[in-house]
Amino acid sequence: MGGTKILAAVINSKEGIIARVKKPTPAGAKPGALIKALAEVVNQIITEAGLKLKNIKAVSLGIPGSLNPFTGRVGLAPNLGLKNFFIKDQLEKLVNIPVLIENDVNLGALGIKEFGVGKNKKNMLVVFVGTGIGGALIFDGKIYRGSSFTAGEIGHIVIDKNGLKCGCGNYGCFETVASRLAIVRNIKLDIKAKKKTIITKISGKNKPIKSKAIAAAVKANDKVVVKRVSDACEVIGTTLASLTNLLNVDEVVLGGGLIEALGNFMTLKIRTAFNQNLLAETAKAVKLVQSKLGDDAALYGGIVLAEEFLGLKV
Ligand SMILES: [Zn+2]
Repeated sequence: MGGTKILAAVINSKEGIIARVKKPTPAGAKPGALIKALAEVVNQIITEAGLKLKNIKAVSLGIPGSLNPFTGRVGLAPNLGLKNFFIKDQLEKLVNIPVLIENDVNLGALGIKEFGVGKNKKNMLVVFVGTGIGGALIFDGKIYRGSSFTAGEIGHIVIDKNGLKCGCGNYGCFETVASRLAIVRNIKLDIKAKKKTIITKISGKNKPIKSKAIAAAVKANDKVVVKRVSDACEVIGTTLASLTNLLNVDEVVLGGGLIEALGNFMTLKIRTAFNQNLLAETAKAVKLVQSKLGDDAALYGGIVLAEEFLGLKV
């Protein structure tokens, strides 16, 4: 579930996705209403798949925020308006199926590890570049959650102490420099400085600049947009190299809305900066690749989560 949409699927490891439902997240809803909307989605998709409640082993829920998957408590999920909320217990009461929760980026990483480009990899760093920048770590084939379940917050590594203020309160975080929002902010500075760009024409005057519009402008070789995206890629590649020098992973996986929209244009530029900043021995072990699963990564991650927590094969 995200701030704007709830994406649900009935899924197992043999057949893959059997049915899927996409619904808008009720805007500004209280936690109770949010739970109700989730329960409705669960019931709807079971019916649409032609299944019964007893066919379903678990509901795995990906949440954008900090949470404890063992207690089922969400610490903070600002986009959903959830704070200190025991979402697992509340939803279980309504759906009568075991509910499991995991941070959405971790869930995506689990899906990539078992069903995507991370198959048969041991140590991975997964990075999603979109509105912000999210990260997840897999060590020895298992998700690394950290001491208080916040590991992987790559977007809040400070890379420019004199930079802009981030949503987290610090200054110059990675995502204030290289996310889609950062790129858009820089493009707008260029527009203000009267530099020539077709981006306003593509996305519409006074409309938000989305990943697709950025991709279209790059395709048309728009100098302003190409430059701003390239600058972000350089920062992303350098930062990921530094982290790889620290972690010595065998795979770095790129995903997220912006990467999906721009594909090779970004991946190749990121890879160049990445390779330039790796230590020689570290470089031998690692590959930087793009995820092919898109939003489905988190759906597949649900299988892995159920297997971890319930000890069963799905
Ligand atoms: Zn931050």
